[in-house]
Amino acid sequence: MLSRQEISGILRNKDKGKARSLFAEADRLRRQYTGDDVHLRGIIEFSNHCRQDCLYCGLRRSNKNLIRYRMPPKEILSVSKSARRADIRTVVLQSGEDPQYNIGEFCGLIGKIKKLDVAVTVCIGECSYADYRRLKEAGADRYLLKFETSDAVLYKKFRPGNTLSRRLECLAWLKKLKFQVGSGIMVGLPGQTFESIAGDILIFEKLGLDMIGIGPFIPHPDTPLAGSKRIDLGTVLKVVAITRMVTGNAHIPATTAVGSIDAVGREKALQAGANVVMPDLTPARYRRYYDIYPGKICVGEDAEECLPCLYRRIQSIGRRVSVTRGDSLKL
Ligand code: SAH
Ligand code: SF4
Repeated sequence: MLSRQEISGILRNKDKGKARSLFAEADRLRRQYTGDDVHLRGIIEFSNHCRQDCLYCGLRRSNKNLIRYRMPPKEILSVSKSARRADIRTVVLQSGEDPQYNIGEFCGLIGKIKKLDVAVTVCIGECSYADYRRLKEAGADRYLLKFETSDAVLYKKFRPGNTLSRRLECLAWLKKLKFQVGSGIMVGLPGQTFESIAGDILIFEKLGLDMIGIGPFIPHPDTPLAGSKRIDLGTVLKVVAITRMVTGNAHIPATTAVGSIDAVGREKALQAGANVVMPDLTPARYRRYYDIYPGKICVGEDAEECLPCLYRRIQSIGRRVSVTRGDSLKL
């Protein structure tokens, strides 16, 4: 097992040859643990309303330049049906922390989506234990809640009114309720150090996460972090590769954010330890308003256009698209 010091040493090292061998080793481990299948998680961004004010995010409540939307449950169900028809066996329901959303109605929707024989992942931020339990009882299989950074001081600064310990408590509740739990971080937050990222990676392993999402922080012009320095793809790929080495059989997505800072960022991530891709199924007319960060790929396209492109990309690097649910490999 790599130590924190060894991990931060790898992240700091600028040697391109060493990085290439790191990616090759992570790719080998990815094949050994997960095979050549790439799992698709279709994501529906059903509401961009948010009561939080995260300094990094375009959906923060103080961003008054954003047109807000909320998809009706019927429309979410119909998108889920088309996902199933396209052989996508996981639907991810993601939103801001929408104060208007009604947990009872949402649970009813989950029940209907479950009838399609797909896995349902929920990603709606921090809730009470009771609400998480209701989601589980309604049939949700998985929950995605990134802890973003394990530096408690940075966390508090970037997520005003929130604490890292509460975030970790939510993750513990989700585990206790037997969700398959996904978490992750952003790489390149202002003030984040290599030591702190090394600590994040060790926490991934400690938490026994089923899925780990790693994305670059991309500064948004309508937030207080506009004008922050952008992180290079190479560093993000190294975090992906080391995460594969440390966590073994966790599912690791080649995130949309990675694909947004480099035209073939996702392909590169898939060759540096990742084994999952999350196609955006949000109908085109809402997409541009789910403006978490600028330059997001595929805005303006519907899933009908996105999916063939994604298949081609996956096949271009000699990989297969899985038609299974791709449940946790840690169960
Ligand atoms: N509201 C929920 C889920 C939606 S946000 C939550 O916060 O958990 C989904 C993810 O977007 C966050 O976990 C964060 O990692 C990412 N994100 C937010 N702002 C970003 C930015 N500027 N660049 C890259 N990723 C960002
Ligand atoms: Fe809201 Fe999530 Fe964005 Fe924070 S990261 S402002 S909780 S949508």
